[in-house]
Amino acid sequence: MSKTIFEKIIDKEIPSDIIYEDDLLIAIKDINPVAPVHLLIIPKKVIPTLNDLSKEDSIIVGKMVSLAKDLAKKLDIDKTGYRTVFNCNDHGGQTVYHIHLHLIGGRKMNWPPG
Ligand code: 5GP
Repeated sequence: MSKTIFEKIIDKEIPSDIIYEDDLLIAIKDINPVAPVHLLIIPKKVIPTLNDLSKEDSIIVGKMVSLAKDLAKKLDIDKTGYRTVFNCNDHGGQTVYHIHLHLIGGRKMNWPPG
């Protein structure tokens, strides 16, 4: 299977604005931000959609959410608030088939989403 854009970013084959990186995760600025803060928290393990999560992947997902919390504080949007989103498949609006958590903030969000 050919690499997704996020695998290419993880492998440093294409550039991105990296905010955080460790053995398991990378956090980058979204190329097309929908708010003043818009980061993508991406596991290095290739998992196409939330439907493909295994039980063992719970650790990765937990770390993704925990990193979102830490980055929200670092970027000073923790008090005002923020939104975290996993899009899954077509109806969820997923366009890159390598799971990622959006961290969006710096403005008031609407609900329900469009
Ligand atoms: P999805 O729609 O799959 O939930 O989100 C994919 C996100 O990846 C979109 O918000 C899109 O702007 C972002 N994106 C797509 N290609 C690139 C890229 O090459 N670099 C970065 N930094 N973000 C990208």
